[in-house]
Amino acid sequence: MARVLFDKESCKGCKLCVTVCPKKIIALSPEVNSHGFHPAGITEAEKCNGCGFCFLICPDVAIAVLRGEGAGE
Ligand code: SF4
Ligand code: SF4
Repeated sequence: MARVLFDKESCKGCKLCVTVCPKKIIALSPEVNSHGFHPAGITEAEKCNGCGFCFLICPDVAIAVLRGEGAGE
């Protein structure tokens, strides 16, 4: 079990995380943040395998991946 958290205000909507996710469960929101960007979010959280690829590739440090106890297990 893993949990992914997105900081919507830090996201610039570059879609790198969308591209890299092996489970294809990240998508940009139709809404915009206060900077005018469409922020990324998770669509099917239960499918996340905790690989951390999204966290590693994000240039704006807008993603946190929690595993184990940190994920609420
Ligand atoms: S941790 Fe891996 S599976 Fe989970 S959302 Fe990020 S890239 Fe996708
Ligand atoms: S990689 Fe980071 S900045 Fe780019 S869309 Fe994903 S969360 Fe937003």
